[in-house]
Amino acid sequence: MNHAQQAPLEFRDLRKRYGATPAVAGISLAIAPGAFVALVGASGSGKSTLLKTVNRLVEPSGGTVLFEGADVAGLPLAALRRRIGYVFQSVGLFPHMSVAENIAIGPRLVGERLPASRIAELLELVDLDPAMAPRMPDELSGGQRQRVGVARALASEPQLLLMDEPFGALDPVTRDALGQRVRKLHAELGLTTVMVTHDMAEALLLADRILVMDGGRIVADETPHALLDGAGGEIAQALVSVPRGQADRLAELAR
Ligand code: ADP
Repeated sequence: MNHAQQAPLEFRDLRKRYGATPAVAGISLAIAPGAFVALVGASGSGKSTLLKTVNRLVEPSGGTVLFEGADVAGLPLAALRRRIGYVFQSVGLFPHMSVAENIAIGPRLVGERLPASRIAELLELVDLDPAMAPRMPDELSGGQRQRVGVARALASEPQLLLMDEPFGALDPVTRDALGQRVRKLHAELGLTTVMVTHDMAEALLLADRILVMDGGRIVADETPHALLDGAGGEIAQALVSVPRGQADRLAELAR
């Protein structure tokens, strides 16, 4: 298998237990280069735990995670995290550091300095004014902070972008705009992206592959089109019925 065809990410019988709770109960799947994957499911279904095994924020109880064919357990942590962009659920900017310092933190941890021109470029990538570089996080709106979070995740030019409920705390307009921006960046930068969300509408609109989790297992693995066509089983269809019902009611109102 040559490099171009190598799955950027693969789980083999991955398991994680917290005491008696099986958070991830044996997951095997491969993610193709360039895919935009949404990991959807109810709260507590294991989405975050699965995502966090990739950059080793969580150590699995069993099974293997392969990043570009290599077992992540055997990779040096700093090098692994450098090659994987990670956008946190609650933004996670350091409050005592400027926007520029926050963006540059990943490279700095491995002894590299990001030039101001690169920071400006990263800010422009997420539709922020480069003049924001010296500002502090508390001088930004929630949406601007999360844009900085995305810029920070992209600072090391990762091939793989992981996002844990990245837009959950944002108002609907900002959420929609940032979702579309990230989808464009995904294409422009040739990324492979895995996004955790509990919002099936967001998953249907942004992803090209949707994994539905329930009780630590993947219960559906479908394209948005197939899900809207009724595939994926009961749990997946219960999630799809929410945005579908809303769309139907809106269409009714607009008549
Ligand atoms: P999701 O992201 O789908 O909301 P999580 O992966 O956060 O689900 O959690 C899956 C299960 O594992 C839940 O039952 C949760 O309570 C449990 N869990 C998650 N993290 C921890 C932890 N650090 N310690 C103990 N239990 C945890």
